[in-house]
Amino acid sequence: MSALRPVERLDTHEVSNQVPPLEDVDLFTEDRALHDAVRHWGGAGHVERLTDLGRRCGSAEVIDWGVQANRVPPVLDTHDRYGRRIDEVTFHPAYHQLMDLGLGAGLAASAWDGTPNGHLLHAAILFLTGQADSGTSCPMTMTYASVAALQADPAVGEPWIGGVLSGRYDPAVRPASEKAGVTIGMAMTEKQGGSDVRANTTRAEPVGEDGWYSVTGHKWFCSAPMCDAFLTLAYAPGGLTCFILKRWLPDGRRNAGFRVMRLKDKMGDRSNASSEVEYHGALAQRLGEEGRGVATIIRMVQHTRLDCVVGSALQMRGALAQAAWHAAHRTAFQKRLIDQPMMAAVLTDLAVESEAATALSMRLAATFDADDAVGRLLTPVAKYWVCKRAPNLVYEAMEALGGAGYVETGPMPRLFRQSPLNAIWEGSGNVIALDVLRAAGREPEAVEALRDWLASQAGKSPDYDRFIAGLDVAANEAGARLAVERLALAAQAAALLEMHSPSAEAFIALRLRPRGMAYGAYEVEADHRAVLERAMPV
Ligand SMILES: Cc1cc2nc3c(=O)[nH]c(=O)nc-3n(C[C@H](O)[C@H](O)[C@H](O)COP(=O)(O)OP(=O)(O)OC[C@H]3O[C@@H](n4cnc5c(N)ncnc54)[C@H](O)[C@@H]3O)c2cc1C
Repeated sequence: MSALRPVERLDTHEVSNQVPPLEDVDLFTEDRALHDAVRHWGGAGHVERLTDLGRRCGSAEVIDWGVQANRVPPVLDTHDRYGRRIDEVTFHPAYHQLMDLGLGAGLAASAWDGTPNGHLLHAAILFLTGQADSGTSCPMTMTYASVAALQADPAVGEPWIGGVLSGRYDPAVRPASEKAGVTIGMAMTEKQGGSDVRANTTRAEPVGEDGWYSVTGHKWFCSAPMCDAFLTLAYAPGGLTCFILKRWLPDGRRNAGFRVMRLKDKMGDRSNASSEVEYHGALAQRLGEEGRGVATIIRMVQHTRLDCVVGSALQMRGALAQAAWHAAHRTAFQKRLIDQPMMAAVLTDLAVESEAATALSMRLAATFDADDAVGRLLTPVAKYWVCKRAPNLVYEAMEALGGAGYVETGPMPRLFRQSPLNAIWEGSGNVIALDVLRAAGREPEAVEALRDWLASQAGKSPDYDRFIAGLDVAANEAGARLAVERLALAAQAAALLEMHSPSAEAFIALRLRPRGMAYGAYEVEADHRAVLERAMPV
């Protein structure tokens, strides 16, 4: 083993005071926040399974898959070498290994196959696999979430649900009926419409009597275009309608009207292919009633929003782990960085925020298992705040690594480039805050459920009690961000109190009291040593 070590004694100097790579780590057991949250909200029976997966995802081999899958991005071939149309995307082999790992672990299936607390298990699996690579989380998340919409129309949806429940990844380019498992994407966003899907122009004309339509139009973003089918919105005679558009037709031919025009050149998320597509009379099957398209697809979107929250929480954890590990191994001015008072203050601030994001994401997942009314408002509230906080935290963690944080051979630039995405897709920040306002106005039972849950944690901290007493869900549009932010902070504190986290007191002190704006800019007392010991990745 020692012969494999890089050479430290060079001709001109010795390499010292550098940090060992953070690999071959158990991402589940060593992450006390995740471990405790999963156990608390009903996942004790999944600990063994998650421990195995945590070791696998933290292994040097799987970490390297993530590096390779992003270093060599996917390539689109619209035609074969003879000029025939194929619309196929080729990925680095590591992409397929990551997909196989995630779907095989149950990322898409476990929530729907009768496993107890399956959504919580799903969220914890994503928390682990996403630390190896976030790009592959996109097709796996969409496949997981599609089941909620497919269930709305069992006659059409059932065969596809069966393909998801197989828990298998099959990258073969052939009809779904000949495959061991399927992946399912979603295409809503158009050039002129964007968030306002009712401004979409794609049209669907019925062909025959059995729910098939000819679709003409486009989508401006369609991620994972190698999926076997896509839930798609188009205007049918009866209004905006949801369709399932398959790459292959029942007679075994390609759905030739589905054309992938080009892949987006993205800032991050590079292992994942995101495309622009056109429908030239592509054939699609109606899913749900005509005119009920938004109501059908929103069932899927509610679940992808959960995964945005989990996805950002896991990025925060990954960044924090790198920062804490670095600071524990690097010495500057005669002390380990982690023992320098200001660095300890910064890392403590990052650690409480990361743990709060983890706790809230698992609490949210548990509402999906319980079909709990708290989830209606908690989903957009958490999506808004956790996703919005990720880039700030990742940046600050990067700075804790100094120059080493900025070089492409390390993990931080990829994390940083990925970090804004969850806030943009599946409803950008303002759109999500408006969703909270709308729900607060129209669904008093959802507000009541959230209030009851927040109140259930009262009496444990005077600061928390004061904070929730001042909450106001009703706001005008211009004030929506502040209202949602305050709800999110209260929800994070409540989640930490509920799971009896040792970090709850520090979170409340650092987030519910007045303080400076930068990480580490606070005067309140916080037990740095205890928080950092809990946050350390090994
Ligand atoms: C990498 C990537 C992959 C994607 N993959 C897919 C996919 O697979 N399928 C799919 O359907 N879509 C996909 N999307 C699209 C994504 O969901 C949209 O970009 C997103 O919903 C925002 O739509 P838009 O880009 O048209 O922005 P717009 O709708 O133009 O919004 C621009 C800004 O205005 C804000 N805004 C909008 N309305 C209001 C308002 N009333 N008041 C205040 N502010 C407002 C928004 O919050 C946003 O900040 C993907 C996007 C990215 C970046």
